[in-house]
Amino acid sequence: MYCRNCGNEVSDKAVICVACGVPPKSGDKYCYNCRAETYPNAQICTLAATHATV
Ligand SMILES: [Zn+2]
Ligand SMILES: [Zn+2]
Repeated sequence: MYCRNCGNEVSDKAVICVACGVPPKSGDKYCYNCRAETYPNAQICTLAATHATV
């Protein structure tokens, strides 16, 4: 997945993003799934419909 704060690619199990030092799911700038930029406070990106459900 991608860090939601900085867009860095991180392990799915990562607790802290090595690039920016915050929990990868704590941000709201990038989609964790496809790295697309998201609107502030958006849970998912506008491309969410194209995401494969894992
Ligand atoms: Zn980060
Ligand atoms: Zn996405």
